[in-house]
Amino acid sequence: MCNTQSSLTLNETDEAQMSWCSDCQCYSLVYRSSCASFNRAELAQFQRVLDQLTIDKFCYDFLGQPYVILHSSRAYVGFCLSQQDVSALKRLIREALTIHEVYQLIQS
Ligand SMILES: [Zn+2]
Repeated sequence: MCNTQSSLTLNETDEAQMSWCSDCQCYSLVYRSSCASFNRAELAQFQRVLDQLTIDKFCYDFLGQPYVILHSSRAYVGFCLSQQDVSALKRLIREALTIHEVYQLIQS
């Protein structure tokens, strides 16, 4: 996570934000109280994981709603997501990458 002048907010909603740091060359994702940083390849992998979440993967019942838990490979910390959360994240990342491409075109 970077909070410097090199960090560019790509898009945000009431509970999420995607940003790009030109120093670290990484994307930062804040979703509710969770945050993660990805390089381009790692973000693509995260998108694939989200895309492959079928209904049967949402097997944790919290407050009567089905959730999936995505674990980090680096530590036993993860995202706990409902189906609505996954849809919101997929849209957020897709839009952020489009905005980043436009930003890079404008800069070049
Ligand atoms: Zn940085």
